[in-house]
Amino acid sequence: LREKYGEVEEIKKHNQSRVLRAFRQGGVKQYHFHAATGYGYGDEGRQVLDRTFAGALEAEDCLVRAGIVSGTHAVSLCYFGLLRPGDELVSVTGKPYETLEKVIGLDSYSPGCLRDWGIKYRQVELTAEGKPDLGAIRQAITPQTKVVSIQRSRGYAWRPSLAIDDIADIIKAVKQASARAICFVDNCYGEFVEEKEPVAVGADLMAGSLLKNPGGTLAPSGGYIAGKASLVEACAARFTAPGLGRDVGASLCDPRILFQGLFLAPIFVAEAVKAAMFIAAFMQALGFEVSPGPQDKRTDIIQAVRLGSAELMVSFMEALQKASPVDAHLIPEPAELPGYEVPVIMAGGTFVAGATLEFSADAPVAPPYAVYIQGGVDKDYARLMVVAAAEELWAKRLIKL
Ligand SMILES: *Cc1c(COP(=O)(O)O)cnc(C)c1O
Repeated sequence: LREKYGEVEEIKKHNQSRVLRAFRQGGVKQYHFHAATGYGYGDEGRQVLDRTFAGALEAEDCLVRAGIVSGTHAVSLCYFGLLRPGDELVSVTGKPYETLEKVIGLDSYSPGCLRDWGIKYRQVELTAEGKPDLGAIRQAITPQTKVVSIQRSRGYAWRPSLAIDDIADIIKAVKQASARAICFVDNCYGEFVEEKEPVAVGADLMAGSLLKNPGGTLAPSGGYIAGKASLVEACAARFTAPGLGRDVGASLCDPRILFQGLFLAPIFVAEAVKAAMFIAAFMQALGFEVSPGPQDKRTDIIQAVRLGSAELMVSFMEALQKASPVDAHLIPEPAELPGYEVPVIMAGGTFVAGATLEFSADAPVAPPYAVYIQGGVDKDYARLMVVAAAEELWAKRLIKL
């Protein structure tokens, strides 16, 4: 992997220099690190944080808030900010991430979902190889199509994640079919893995979670929405209230850690990508099917490993938890989670609960019994974790060498 690691380092240098430039151009000062309370009127730090994130993501504008509680919330804000009754949302990357099915009201009904508001939904499946079906996408877009949703990362699906080049192709196809359609990208897990973000290749809007890549392992909560200024504005009106938009709101956390997390994000993301490559090579050597492969091009930090049985999956998670720096005494068990259809098991002895850039693994306990591993503040730390887990499985005679 040495050569591959070198490529990751090059991407890191590129992204780190862009982030650094965004800090300088944003005019970040110690003064901006003071938290605002109450209504938070005139909070300059909040404005500078937005500007700095926008620069780092090469977006015209960005809304970053600790009060955006998760990636699902960030994406949901975009849908509700942009769509009105009678409008149509088209997912062109097949079934969306599980929790977003609830937002849309896809198979089951949740109060307040898009369906509840009379917003129509259709989806275009990916091809058998998991690639976007550009012909079908062109046909699916109609004058009613207000928002086209593109999911960059695989989620809990055994399909390749979409590279920025694939996203660029989709956007081109959509814009040919309708100049009016807004191209939205669910950018969760993708930030800083490649040299460009979706807005740099024509996406109108994108969203992600600070508990993943751009929080740089430090953010205690939060999400962002970035893209065209008028669209970000529309989502900000939904986040607080029409007329208030982005100009109110207490900090809710120490603003410094959101700035510092963004500053560190390209470094930790690069380590996480190297960690994923190592895990792919290691688990493949142990005889498991992995996706992506160790040498494959990456566009997110997720490594999927097909363990093949619930027993192996649960034992693997237990072993990872046991090797963690925090909560090593806990024994993970599959459980219901809000927004998820099947029980999910998660291992994550992380400092920020559920923060996935630190090092975590999670999996729906259902066929094909694949676990999704992500993060690792350092590739050698991720190596320690996964090797410890393999030793534990070997001691239990669940794997053979
Ligand atoms: C994680 C994820 C989400 C949801 O983010 P949460 O923070 O878990 O709510 C949405 N889409 C994709 C592709 C994701 O990976």
